Amino acid sequence: MTNKREESKDQKLVLVVDDDKILRQILCLSMSKSGFKVAEAGTGEEAIEKFKELGADAMLLDVLLPGIDGFQVCKRIRKMPGGASLPIIMITGQDDYESINSAFEAGATDFAAKPLNPLLLCYRIRYIIRANQAFDDLGISQLKLAAAQEMANLSNWELDLTSNIIEWNANVCNIFGVTEQGYRGDLQFFLDIVHKEDLENVRKKIDQSVRHNRDINFEHRIILKGKNVKIIKQEGKILYDSAGIPVRILFTSQDVTEKKNTEDEVRFLAFYDRLTEMPNRILFKEHLAKALFDAKRDRSYIAVLFIDIDNFRLINDTFGRKTGDAILKIVADRLKICLRDNDTAAKMDEYDLTARFGADEFGIILENLNDLSDSAIVCRRIIEMVNEKITVDDNDIFLHSRIGVSVFPDDGNTVEDLLRNADSALSRVKELEKDSYQFYTADLNSRAFARFALETRLRQAIVNNEFYLLYQPQVDLETLKVTGVEALIRWLHPDMGIVSPMDFIPVAEDTGLIIPIGEWVMREALIQCKKWADSGFNIKMSVNLSAVQFRDPKLLEFVKTTIVEEAVDTNFIEFEITESMLMDDVEGSIERMEKFKELGVRLSIDDFGTGYSSLNYLKRFPVDALKVDRSFVSDITVSEDDAMIVTAIVTLAKNLNLEVIAEGIEMKEHLSFLNNLGCDHAQGYLISRPVSAEEVESFFGDWTVDEI
Ligand code: C2E
Ligand code: MG
Ligand code: MG
Repeated sequence: MTNKREESKDQKLVLVVDDDKILRQILCLSMSKSGFKVAEAGTGEEAIEKFKELGADAMLLDVLLPGIDGFQVCKRIRKMPGGASLPIIMITGQDDYESINSAFEAGATDFAAKPLNPLLLCYRIRYIIRANQAFDDLGISQLKLAAAQEMANLSNWELDLTSNIIEWNANVCNIFGVTEQGYRGDLQFFLDIVHKEDLENVRKKIDQSVRHNRDINFEHRIILKGKNVKIIKQEGKILYDSAGIPVRILFTSQDVTEKKNTEDEVRFLAFYDRLTEMPNRILFKEHLAKALFDAKRDRSYIAVLFIDIDNFRLINDTFGRKTGDAILKIVADRLKICLRDNDTAAKMDEYDLTARFGADEFGIILENLNDLSDSAIVCRRIIEMVNEKITVDDNDIFLHSRIGVSVFPDDGNTVEDLLRNADSALSRVKELEKDSYQFYTADLNSRAFARFALETRLRQAIVNNEFYLLYQPQVDLETLKVTGVEALIRWLHPDMGIVSPMDFIPVAEDTGLIIPIGEWVMREALIQCKKWADSGFNIKMSVNLSAVQFRDPKLLEFVKTTIVEEAVDTNFIEFEITESMLMDDVEGSIERMEKFKELGVRLSIDDFGTGYSSLNYLKRFPVDALKVDRSFVSDITVSEDDAMIVTAIVTLAKNLNLEVIAEGIEMKEHLSFLNNLGCDHAQGYLISRPVSAEEVESFFGDWTVDEI
């Protein structure tokens, strides 16, 4: 209120309105004695004029006035600026109840009946002014709060814990995007608004809060009409009754959508590359630090790859910046695909990360590597993919890349060391041929190269028919005659000579090449088996299955058709499966073995005793025989431990009604020891090394062990 009272703000002004001049003067006198400023009026019109001119902090208003009466004055003042909240005390006659009622209807704050006690009246006015002030202040602060909440997109609502009823106001409706009409008052209504994917978390939070009397804090999304999404932050505070029992949760809700979006934007600008949308060097380092922490804990490998695109500046100079950018985006997408491709042996981890460092430089972190050569597989794949043709504006472009690799723990165990070493490996590879990669450590490099050389050659070996089979005879220790052979693969490479299966089978497994190789072995062995059968030699043929083959869902079908095509008697076919293969997935293995048994073939567990302890499961495996690993056999005559192990295996097999075959028999002593134990079959250099089909035939027929 701006008026002439400005100078004495603390002194309150009371407007005394009464047509009785004497009474008016008495009232004015006692008011000013009590510290009020006073203004007076003798008629209703005068009162309104005075209020208009001076304003007032309170008004004493006689009901009976000449002209317009006190009720009218009260009503009019209520409508004037500053009049709505003015304390108006109406002076009525004693017991004049009708006047008292009319006074309230006209909007009076209070009444005082004649005869008046001026001193008491002063006190009364003082209290009323004070209460009115507090009320005004509260109103103002509520208004301020509402305005501030609206500005901050904030609001609050309450959940009654006994009835599940919620109370909220228009502003909450606004934030939650619901109309006030469509609002129902229970908790479910709120839950219905919450985004489906966040619902469980919201439920859990509220539940926890109720159960543990804990204030809560959570964020959730809501979907508005038109599929817009809002992000709401909720802070819930528990309110207790006087007995300390939680009765309500007071929620403060804030629409943080814009803030979140800005945060995301800021984060994107700070940690990502705009062009490729890949992480930048800062995020890459952060991620590497985390990866190192995990790798140290899990004792796993990490590889850091620095990739450089050759002569990229030339592309920019020739085709311009815009085309250059488009090409970089294509390269970036290919790199991302490289990491997502799960077909190869190098299984990529979901946390692997590709980043862009500079114009034409990229970085990759490979985590959870089982084998370091997996990183070399990724390098090859990257080089191949970058190499693929890119067509822009009718131009075919072929890019070349070089990669430097550092590995944890071999090449360092800090972020800085690994980055520096990958970088220096990259510098080194830049001096070498294009489309190549280089490990920081020379030893790793040669290992990776050797493996790749082998992989490439292995691919050619299939095409060039460089594999052949040898057969090692197996003797029945009761009859001392040869009853079976084990087919063992050999690879004759034009330059490398004969390569041991121990060296190439693991690479074939990692690259998936074991599937075509294994199929070749299978067919070859089955054809040989049939040939011998046709010549009157009923010889059992043992074929080794590798883990990848055994898990291949197509194997069973392949075996089935090959058996039919080659017309072999399944009684003479045995598959050797290693113990560790079975233990990887016991139930799945049993199921697969049972399917093989339905075909009528025999199954044996190879290298028994070396792998996991499968003794508990042995009863459930539908196998016919155990092959005692040769590492136990070689020392049975000198090591008591080994003798005990072999004895135990033979006894166990007998109890389970399984046949036992001992591998690696090199000495006569081995043979007699095993014979005494009651072992069924023997295989080893003492009888024969693996030999060609023609050579092994000399062991069939009348041959017996006594000939050794
Ligand atoms: P394995 O199945 O345990 O085969 C027995 C290995 O022991 C053969 O080695 C055999 O030459 C060798 N051996 C036999 N008797 C003696 C002996 O008295 N003393 C010694 N020191 N060694 C003996 P090879 O042929 O080098 O094969 C090694 C492994 O490669 C095999 O172990 C088998 O796991 C795998 N393998 C061989 N051929 C195939 C195949 O066609 N497919 C698959 N998946 N794996 C194969
Ligand atoms: Mg074997
Ligand atoms: Mg073996």
